[in-house]
Amino acid sequence: MGTHAKQSSATAELAQLIAGAESVVALTGAGISVPSGIPDFRSPGTGLWERVDPMEVAHIDAFERDPERFWSFYAQRFDVLAHKQPNDAHRALAALERAGLLQAVVTQNVDQLHRKAGTRELVEVHGSIAGCVCLHCGAQVSREQAQSRIAADPAGVPRCDDCGAPLKPQVVLFGEPLPERALTRAQELCARADVLLCIGSSLEVYPVAALPELTLARGGALAIVTKGPTPFDGVAGVRLDDDVVEELQALLAALGVAA
Ligand code: ZN
Repeated sequence: MGTHAKQSSATAELAQLIAGAESVVALTGAGISVPSGIPDFRSPGTGLWERVDPMEVAHIDAFERDPERFWSFYAQRFDVLAHKQPNDAHRALAALERAGLLQAVVTQNVDQLHRKAGTRELVEVHGSIAGCVCLHCGAQVSREQAQSRIAADPAGVPRCDDCGAPLKPQVVLFGEPLPERALTRAQELCARADVLLCIGSSLEVYPVAALPELTLARGGALAIVTKGPTPFDGVAGVRLDDDVVEELQALLAALGVAA
């Protein structure tokens, strides 16, 4: 009972914060895609990451050293992620954007579920599974093209048509820098936001973890909807830690926005 009362008052506070803001930006992490069946790799013993260390297998050094081994793992990840569907938390953010209450979504996720849910202004700071790129000559192909090359190649490695080098997913691998244009755009958005709505992210992985600082520095507010602690809990204007789908559905209802 006590929890519920506190919950709804925090949701009402968040609704008020958003309704009164000129610029609201969402920053999302793995937690928003968990209800879509994509486990957070930081939770041990789940799905595809069960038998491998992601820091080892999804590392740029692993790709460069042994593309065949890299792709024997990553082809499966491509395939699994490509078939996942957005959930009501992704759809809630798309509804907020349509209602003019959300300027953009900055995401750490590579799964494209925000795009599938209808978000238009999307900044993917860790890249996405949309396609592959040749690190040698810069050529790009779609995921579908890469998948047919994987199927056709005896070693299961998609190769560049122009130079023959192995293609790399347009996902930021461990050990790689973040795409500069996306990071700059994310920084601009967060530095101008009145409210930064952080969802499903532990806000611990730099440089994304520095984005809330930019909003705080310009006098904006942080709202955090995430299970488990974050380094910003003490300075958050609103802190919700229930299920992301339920929290965002409650927020839509409080704002009178149709899902
Ligand atoms: Zn090439």
